[in-house]
Amino acid sequence: MRRRSIRFRLTVWYGVALTAGLAIFGGLIWLSLRSRLMGEIDRDIDGRASRFEKYFRGESMEAAGSQLKDELNEFCQALPPSSYISLRGDRGFAFHYPEKTPAENFRVLQRQFSVNGEVFHLEVGAPVGEVTHTLQLLGWLLLSLMPVVIAIASLGGVWLSGRALKPVNDISAAALTISIENLSERLPVPATGDELARLTEVLNTMLARLESAVKTLSQFVADASHELRTPLAVIRTTAELALRRARSPETYRGSLQEIAAETERMTQLVEDLLLLARRDTGMAEMPLAPIDVKEVLRDVCSEMRGLAEMRQVRVKASLGDDAAVIAGNRAALHRLFIVLLDNALKYSRAGGDVIVTVESADSQIAVAIEDFGAGISAADLPHIFKRFYRADRARGDGGHGLGLALAESIARAHGAAIDVRSVEGEWSKFRVVFPARDARMPARAFSESSA
Ligand code: ADP
Repeated sequence: MRRRSIRFRLTVWYGVALTAGLAIFGGLIWLSLRSRLMGEIDRDIDGRASRFEKYFRGESMEAAGSQLKDELNEFCQALPPSSYISLRGDRGFAFHYPEKTPAENFRVLQRQFSVNGEVFHLEVGAPVGEVTHTLQLLGWLLLSLMPVVIAIASLGGVWLSGRALKPVNDISAAALTISIENLSERLPVPATGDELARLTEVLNTMLARLESAVKTLSQFVADASHELRTPLAVIRTTAELALRRARSPETYRGSLQEIAAETERMTQLVEDLLLLARRDTGMAEMPLAPIDVKEVLRDVCSEMRGLAEMRQVRVKASLGDDAAVIAGNRAALHRLFIVLLDNALKYSRAGGDVIVTVESADSQIAVAIEDFGAGISAADLPHIFKRFYRADRARGDGGHGLGLALAESIARAHGAAIDVRSVEGEWSKFRVVFPARDARMPARAFSESSA
């Protein structure tokens, strides 16, 4: 079922509330007037009956029969017109004033009293025609005016709700025109300072966040395509050159080796991109379990031994025997330490040392990787964790600037902080500080507490 507009519903509710209010108000006025007028008549009749009874008691001592009736008739002459009195005694006495009861609506009071052992039934009536007429008039007035008042008020309600909801329509119309192409546009904020103005401001802040996210994503896609273009061009030109004329098997092997190396670089780049994109969209599944970071570091160091030897760098890992347990994902931590150690080896001077340490203190576990060589300039330091940022592009060391971005993303997923200190041309020290976990805790509790 299609919902009616807020304007329609507001007007209907307003109309219903107004009708109910007016009906109650009119009804109460009518009832209170009626009770007041009838009360007055009742008091009148009661007074008249009492006076009549008193007069009758007095006169019945002195007169009887038709003389008594004459006296009573005289008394009744003084009553207001159109009222009547009837008195009947148990022993046959009967008095009516006037002789013939007028054809009117009466308010009637009946009472009994006894005089000299005879019980008398007294009935006193007063006409209510005038009161009924007044009440009827008031009733008609209320009933005929109420629809007019309701109609005028409802029209006013339609106009008012239209005015109140106009900013909502303006905001909807403006929101309809905003799409990914013009995300920099903003909704008009009504100058009312009310809830609608606040809602619009919140929507505008959301738009600003979306705009910046879309900008980052577009930049990321542009950088990624640019990075992929270079190895693809190398592969293509190497293959084309090799195919241009017949060559010796050694030349072919050389070309294929070059192509294989470029393909591997591309594979790593694509894998890193995929991991980052997954983490950005929250799709990367990273189940956490109790993990000894020292164990992961030992694996990474032994894997990198060959590369270290090739670069003539000594890796000194003083890890000790005790475990340093955190809630972690083994594969992701492995990648994080590979990135840091690979950089340390890459930017270390030949013959230098790379020092790997783990410190446990105050429910924190800090992993530090220090190297002595290129160092990082103060100008580059704030940027090295950005995607595709490379301090010295001319160095041609084969990196593509995604390593540290990925490392930071993995650290964040572990609730860890990553920081760097460096002196250009001398040393760099990267530190990842993890929150420590009790090794006895079950694995399930880890994933829950890290969710
Ligand atoms: P890359 O693939 O270029 O190494 P990273 O994201 O891992 O990309 O690092 C970004 C930049 O930070 C590097 O290009 C390098 O300039 C600088 N950098 C990272 N680690 C070190 C280090 N240990 N010593 C000196 N510079 C470093």
